[in-house]
Amino acid sequence: MKAAVIHAPGKITCDNTEDPGIKDATDVILKVTATAICGSDLHIYSGGFPQPKPMILGHEFMGIVEEVGKDVKNLKKGDRVVVPFPIACGSCFFCNSDLPVHCENSNHEHYGPEGGLIDQKGGGLFGYTDLYGGYDGGQAQFVRVPYADIGPRKVPDSLTDEQVLFLTDIFPTGYSGVDWAEVKGGETVVIFGAGPVGIMAAKSAWLRNAGRVIIVDTLQYRLKKAVAAANCETILWTDAEEVVEKIRAKTQGRGADVCIDAVGFEPDRNIVDRAKALINFEKGSIKVLEACMSAVRRGGIVSVLGVYPTFYDNFPVGQFFDKGITLRGGQAVVHKHIDKLLQYVIDGKIVLDDIITHRLPLTEVAYAYDIFKNKKEDCVKVVLDPWA
Ligand code: NAD
Ligand code: ZN
Ligand code: ZN
Repeated sequence: MKAAVIHAPGKITCDNTEDPGIKDATDVILKVTATAICGSDLHIYSGGFPQPKPMILGHEFMGIVEEVGKDVKNLKKGDRVVVPFPIACGSCFFCNSDLPVHCENSNHEHYGPEGGLIDQKGGGLFGYTDLYGGYDGGQAQFVRVPYADIGPRKVPDSLTDEQVLFLTDIFPTGYSGVDWAEVKGGETVVIFGAGPVGIMAAKSAWLRNAGRVIIVDTLQYRLKKAVAAANCETILWTDAEEVVEKIRAKTQGRGADVCIDAVGFEPDRNIVDRAKALINFEKGSIKVLEACMSAVRRGGIVSVLGVYPTFYDNFPVGQFFDKGITLRGGQAVVHKHIDKLLQYVIDGKIVLDDIITHRLPLTEVAYAYDIFKNKKEDCVKVVLDPWA
């Protein structure tokens, strides 16, 4: 089959690889009909997350069930499903605690990132390096889906792939951000990052009846997209201080009720070497998180959706303490929200596909990563067709 394989930072190619097969009786094999590139894939592409051997990337995908393991009860050949990006067994301590994203059984090969403090086994993710279990991803014609009774959700034929694809990740991710921030109605929500995740957070904030939604980005074209897709107020990022001042000026000097970091680890755009990326990281690329901590009001909540691959030793803990900030974040709790969010899509309460700017064949994956990572051609979101 054809699949997008990462060989080294910056080097991803569409290769001919072996078709996946059923390994466990609870697996299905999915024929992938649509798959997207996520900002999280860029952390691997940039070398922020090391991957020691070639791997098929991709954790935003959907398709048709092709083959079913003998213990799978809820799916049959021909079912059309979207698949949450975290892999969960459905029966361990964390799965039973409403935290399937931290499933103890899905991650078999965990190791801590160099110098990092994470030393416990965590949940597995599709196509997200050996650190997250070493599972092949779905930027491919076929993918093995473990614990198939737990993750995949059937979708109605009346909806196109593009209308439901983002239920796999970025919509539940944006929604997790506002849910962690306890948005109930009337709040001023500031979102840093007008990428796919930030825009989904903005859409989610409106779903939860936020009073105002302000979005910040370094790129004018991304802000334009956020206005068109989610009707946000915008601030162009110049430097942290100026942005924080502008946010305070809009909020009677108090700061926002909620700040959402939808940027995360931002290495120098040309850094593809992990060692260099780490140096850059420690030098200050938590600037967005710092700005969130400054721009949020006393007693406010900061939700961190942007991914941070390692430790950082200059965290503004004094500010955290003095302002009494609640800080939440992590990989999105997709399983918790996906059924409700699918219903919103079915009911027409929300549109997700208006952020797509590029539709490309999987064979052009190298080009697709380049334009998405380097923000070329006003790229916001790329959907890949494995069969074109
Ligand atoms: P993206 O790269 O398309 O978007 C990031 C945006 O941040 C870009 O528009 C960029 O211009 C902007 N940006 C960069 N520096 C900025 C700054 N200083 N201030 C304001 N904006 C700035 O990526 P995406 O797909 O939207 O993903 C965003 C983040 O969310 C990534 O870190 C990704 O790994 C993470 N993510 C997390 C989860 C989760 O489960 N928590 C899920 C999906 C993605
Ligand atoms: Zn993702
Ligand atoms: Zn589990």
